[in-house]
Amino acid sequence: MRYLFEPAPVVSVPVTGSVERFPVHRIYCVGRNYEEHAKEMGFTGREPPFFFLKPTDGLVVVNAGETGTMPYPSLTKNLHHEIELVVAIGKGGKNIKSEDAFGHIFGYAVGLDMTRRDLQGEMKKQGRPWCIGKAFDHSAPIGPITPIAQAGDVENAEIFVQVNGQDRQRSNTSQLIWNIAETIAHLSAAWELQPGDLIYTGTPEGVGAVVSGDTMVGAVAGVVELKVHVA
Ligand code: MN
Repeated sequence: MRYLFEPAPVVSVPVTGSVERFPVHRIYCVGRNYEEHAKEMGFTGREPPFFFLKPTDGLVVVNAGETGTMPYPSLTKNLHHEIELVVAIGKGGKNIKSEDAFGHIFGYAVGLDMTRRDLQGEMKKQGRPWCIGKAFDHSAPIGPITPIAQAGDVENAEIFVQVNGQDRQRSNTSQLIWNIAETIAHLSAAWELQPGDLIYTGTPEGVGAVVSGDTMVGAVAGVVELKVHVA
């Protein structure tokens, strides 16, 4: 087969302890999945989970021990960090039951759901899609994937991000409103999950702005940490 121009390369993420890389299919994100973050965004209580997507080529893939770089994006004056546990799907399926969900997981990574908060806020106000606030180029930094067998207890793991060495967000994944299995159950009712899908599971409270020159260090206990410089 011949193409008119060179097709885009397959986006992939390194896997801890392996020379094989994880080829990425889609990036799903869960909105407002920690109660204290829902509150700081002006919402309360447990509402059904909702989802948005980021483009696969919006990933900023960072190798273990390295510092990734994301350029400060256009159009915004309020770029926010959202530290998140990322679930990497190894086996697809639809209508996956909560009790079967862990059989579909390949591993876990630390991710940042970077957000042009001012643009997202404007879209919310107007009832328009969030794409411009959430799904921009370089909006999804991610560290290496730790296979499930080597990961710690990610359902009860400290999660934090520091900016220039100062704590910004610090919580525990046990505070997720919809846990990993429930998220997979809900998501797979709406889309057929595929091997290579990534799920950004939501962020705890403490979201805030970064500017050019800042360095973010994000971590989830039991998963390889993520370091990203804003250029
Ligand atoms: Mn998020």
